[in-house]
Amino acid sequence: MDQGLPYFLRFIERFPSIEILANASLDDVLQQWEGLGYYSRARNLRKAARFVVDELGGQIPSTYDSLLSLPGVGPYTAAAISSIAFDQPHAVVDGNVIRVLSRLISFSDDVSLSSSKARLQELANLLLDSDRPGSHNEGLMELGALVCTPNPDCKHCPVNAFCSGFKAGNPTSFPVKRAAKKTPHFDIAVGVIEDEMGRIYVQKRREDGMLGGLWEFPGGKQEASESLQETCRREVWEETGMEVKVGKHIASINHSYSHFRITLHAFSCAQTAPSLPTSTLEWEWVVNEHLQAYAFPKANRDLINILTDLTSLSEGNQE
Ligand code: SF4
Repeated sequence: MDQGLPYFLRFIERFPSIEILANASLDDVLQQWEGLGYYSRARNLRKAARFVVDELGGQIPSTYDSLLSLPGVGPYTAAAISSIAFDQPHAVVDGNVIRVLSRLISFSDDVSLSSSKARLQELANLLLDSDRPGSHNEGLMELGALVCTPNPDCKHCPVNAFCSGFKAGNPTSFPVKRAAKKTPHFDIAVGVIEDEMGRIYVQKRREDGMLGGLWEFPGGKQEASESLQETCRREVWEETGMEVKVGKHIASINHSYSHFRITLHAFSCAQTAPSLPTSTLEWEWVVNEHLQAYAFPKANRDLINILTDLTSLSEGNQE
């Protein structure tokens, strides 16, 4: 909530109506979203706004089933919107609610199984106060976020009289989850290619993939028995068709995504002979100061900030 609120306020100020959001460019929407992660949500939000404006006369659907027709809206979001905004009896089950419910009934099955999720959804439906479904859902989510946390404050919990986990003295044994798999890690080498005018090459990721629509430096995963410099040269060639000489190492930046971690190693590069990029992606040569106007994933943005610091440092040294 603390992280999201400043983004929400900026987003609402920039796109104050559904029509404005529907007509905004994807670049603009992604730029407002930059740093939040889960970029498919930004793309879907814009797509949903377009759908509402173009197909539904600007009227946001008010029922659970019709909400499900919007891009990016699944059972969880449809239940949240229909109950909180339209007072309809649909129970919301998110991670916090799963924790509360599984402790309340000492639920011993693995909650990552879809059968477990279905049973907890059934329980949430049964418990739902259908006179005030929005307040009920918000209350349960808040209980999980503030009281029934990984280290629960059972003494001050308003439902401790009904809680099986608390009564048995083992609330933190729930929810039961199978051991998490080790998060994979990848080394990525990217090239910061400068042309003779000091502009830097950037390209735009395809809209349908991970981080779709965001800009990036060309590069990719290190393969076995390859040095990072070799990875950088190969990936730049494969992605852009430009033959480059890989120069000095600029920085290595760690970043975590939901299912894997990366270390992004950036190298300064120059073309061995001037040639036009042949990438099928949209690409541009951009002066460093203008890179702030493009939406980049977090690790690339960290790299741009480092490049900006290096530029100001060298300019300062020249004065
Ligand atoms: S009593 Fe403890 S374990 Fe049970 S719901 Fe409340 S905070 Fe969670």
